[in-house]
Amino acid sequence: MIKALVVEKDEETGKTSAAVQEIAESDLPEGDVTVAVEYSTVNYKDGLCIGPGGGLVRKYPHVPGIDFAGTVESSDDDRYKPGDKVVLTGWRVGEAHWGGYAEKARVRADWLVPLPEGLTTRQAMAVGTAGFTATLAVMALEDHGLSPDKGEVLVTGAAGGVGSVATALLSNLGYEVAAVTGRPEQEDYLKGLGAARIVPRDEINETTKRPLESETWAGCVDAVGGAMLARVLGQLKYGGSVAAVGLAGGANLPATVVPFLLRGVNLLGIDSVMQPFENRQRAWKRVASDLPLDLLEGMVQPATLEDLPRLGAEILNGQVRGRVVVEVN
Ligand code: NDP
Repeated sequence: MIKALVVEKDEETGKTSAAVQEIAESDLPEGDVTVAVEYSTVNYKDGLCIGPGGGLVRKYPHVPGIDFAGTVESSDDDRYKPGDKVVLTGWRVGEAHWGGYAEKARVRADWLVPLPEGLTTRQAMAVGTAGFTATLAVMALEDHGLSPDKGEVLVTGAAGGVGSVATALLSNLGYEVAAVTGRPEQEDYLKGLGAARIVPRDEINETTKRPLESETWAGCVDAVGGAMLARVLGQLKYGGSVAAVGLAGGANLPATVVPFLLRGVNLLGIDSVMQPFENRQRAWKRVASDLPLDLLEGMVQPATLEDLPRLGAEILNGQVRGRVVVEVN
């Protein structure tokens, strides 16, 4: 038997409930690699899958956990052998397929990435899907011409998981980072990650009738979406780009096309779930080389499987700071 966080749904009321249970290893879904999970994390999507499902979970009972790192226990695929350290993010694991909130996970070899050199399994999960996605966002901005000499870079939802890693990564690469937060008490934390200044959320979270404002940001990593993303588009410098990562503030985009037409700005979509293997490896290499591991450790709040129902609700309320690392065993 193995320990897992299992979410069940009451068919009559439609309500879900999550609790740690013992499950049989034979209950794990089909797959060609079995991994002894060491660490997982809590991302915004995990909050949905631990809680109401958010339309992501296909069937119950369900084991959430959209990412994990651990050691291969058995493998029917030539690419992996017992003892290999691996990391998994995306591919709808933890949503459509049972995920990382269990002592073991059975998955497809195609979904795994060898643990990058220089990172432990714990550090990989301190990064997790949120940090991996922040790295993809920074790579996309650079691929579209961003460099430190171009000017200030904005990070929205900065005290959250994506925002914290984006702030630390950009600052370590020499960028001047302006961090948007709705939690003024997190100013010291964000400055510790390398933010040069704090932008209060209220200053940038309201719609404006002006499609263009003064040219302020050379680029932006946006975890918030909604009205904030629309405002950022109108504040980008000529030719600047925003990497749209998240929707913590809403899925609508109340914007005009004017910034695209008059300032040649770019809206870059970032998806971490279906990224091809080569780009995953590229991103994990950048994590290992460019993210200061001491700052990463400072973002971490440790947790166990038992803490997950509480943490899932907290992340949906925007109350989690930085990254949670879940010790599964
Ligand atoms: P977190 O909850 O850790 O961070 C989100 C942050 O957004 C909060 O900490 C808060 O930051 C800010 N925020 C929350 N609510 C609001 C609001 N109503 N208005 C403005 N700001 C708000 O989540 P993650 O960092 O894990 O994920 C961030 C987003 O990115 C989510 O929407 C998630 O689904 C998405 N995502 C997308 C991925 C992809 O592949 N595209 C992969 C991973 C995540 P503060 O307190 O500092 O203001």
